[in-house]
Amino acid sequence: GGLVLNVDHTFKILLVGDSGVGKSSLLLRFSTGGFEELVPTIGVDFKAKVVDVGGKKVKLTIWDTAGQERFRTLTSSYYRGAQGIVLVYDVSRAETFDSLADIWLREVDMYGTVEECIKMVVANKSDLAEQREVSREMGLQFAKAHGCLFVETSAKGNVAVDQAFEELVHKVGDSG
Ligand code: GDP
Repeated sequence: GGLVLNVDHTFKILLVGDSGVGKSSLLLRFSTGGFEELVPTIGVDFKAKVVDVGGKKVKLTIWDTAGQERFRTLTSSYYRGAQGIVLVYDVSRAETFDSLADIWLREVDMYGTVEECIKMVVANKSDLAEQREVSREMGLQFAKAHGCLFVETSAKGNVAVDQAFEELVHKVGDSG
């Protein structure tokens, strides 16, 4: 039937990080190519996109906290079965970088259920050069120290957003 969507795999990808770092904007940018001012909502939301990974069709379900992170914790069910986790900070707010170590990485390690879960640190808002508080070097070192991939992005300027998700997805694909 023409409406049957054949996919070889489904990968669950999560976005975590402080409120306002640009998680929803990254997801919107990647899933539709668009960018808009977003009204924060409560509850968990996800978007799906089918991508090609090494000749195979992979359905990505990408989960966004949609505001739950303001309570500084997400539920274990949010993390269940995730094969890829994107830890996002805002390069113009150092406290959002500190939160990766203080909150988000700890929670990921506590709840992440898939052994070979791939982690990626995303340094967003790279367009805010004047207000930058976290250097690329700092972000890269942190990512390396914790076994994470690292990409600097701008959801606003559409810089490296597709690249970030694609790199993560290929790594998840490679890990079997
Ligand atoms: P979330 O709370 O992590 O989901 O963050 P949002 O996606 O809602 O973004 C928070 C604010 O940052 C919004 O006003 C966005 O328009 C803005 N924003 C998101 N990404 C970027 C970016 O790459 N550069 C700049 N300058 N602003 C961004």
